[in-house]
Amino acid sequence: MAFSLNSYPVVYRAKYSGAWEEGYIEKPHKTQAEEAALPEVERERLIASRNYFDDMPLVGYSTQYGLSVFEGLKALPQKDGGLAIFRPGKNAARFFRSMKGLYLPPFPEDLFVKACLEVVRRNAALGFTPKYSQDWEKDSFSQADAVYIRPFTYSEGGVGVKLSREPWVLIVCTTVGPYFEPGLKGAEVSERTRATPNGTGWIKAASNYVISAMAKHEAAQRGFMECIYLDALERKYVEEGSSCNIFFYLKSGELVTPELGDTILPGITRESIIELARDKGINVSERRISIDEALSETRECFVSGTAAGAAPIESLTYKGRTVEFSGGKRGDLTAEIHDTIKAIQYGRIADSKGWMVRV
Ligand SMILES: *Cc1c(COP(=O)(O)O)cnc(C)c1O
Repeated sequence: MAFSLNSYPVVYRAKYSGAWEEGYIEKPHKTQAEEAALPEVERERLIASRNYFDDMPLVGYSTQYGLSVFEGLKALPQKDGGLAIFRPGKNAARFFRSMKGLYLPPFPEDLFVKACLEVVRRNAALGFTPKYSQDWEKDSFSQADAVYIRPFTYSEGGVGVKLSREPWVLIVCTTVGPYFEPGLKGAEVSERTRATPNGTGWIKAASNYVISAMAKHEAAQRGFMECIYLDALERKYVEEGSSCNIFFYLKSGELVTPELGDTILPGITRESIIELARDKGINVSERRISIDEALSETRECFVSGTAAGAAPIESLTYKGRTVEFSGGKRGDLTAEIHDTIKAIQYGRIADSKGWMVRV
């Protein structure tokens, strides 16, 4: 339920063959209200049918070898009406870098932003759009709806281990709710390695997420909500979560997040939180932090990402030993940062940074 595919009818599709050729595809749909009234099975079948394209190749570098990059961003209902997207230019720039990183012909940043806005607009025009609710303010938007926008690349057909020269870029929209499964708590340090030096950890590349999904499954079986990765070489320094960056608010008052390198994904939420925390007068460092320092010096810990927001990590388990942070509850700074970022995103407080782009 939390992060399930609930495809909206309009999909953006561009194809590269020397230049980008763009189009919008409208998949079968009824009105949102009519769909909601359908029997569950019929409704699910209709939504699932929007996830098929029979003119795209089944066997290609994306399906066979995971040669694909993606993005994730949100269009959020605004308190004064309408929708706005959080920092889409940043996602455009990262998508461009990711594509170049996999030697794909990079997708122009201006096309990316325009297409994200337009696909949300076209779905909204058909009635597929969430509406702002005053109730969301009661718990700082933890239950709030948004349109999740998922741009990704898809390769042309081919069976050899090769790079893609003429990929598609698709942008689909789906509804999302809370990211973490209810009932699970805390994080464990995974034995697995998410990313290696000289690899693709800094790229939002599809192939990176297989290990993440495995590690997260293993963590969940032991009752943990999230898993944390250490660096591959020394297995000493904290890198990030399964698809989130990580912050430690130390007893000294320093807020630490691991410095970027080629094994850490440069999150836009991470960058925004660093800026917001500095504005609040907090001493923020981007530096290496060992698991031993993190376990002994932390007063609050949280992970950050588009889907997660700023989600508290109440405890960390490493080699069978569990350390609780802020009494096993969400800490005050974590709450303040989460609330500030959500209030900006949903237009409950003024967007003094110019981060929101109106749909
Ligand atoms: C997407 C992602 C993040 C978070 O990035 P945001 O831009 O904040 O959503 C962090 N780590 C990994 C591995 C990711 O894939």
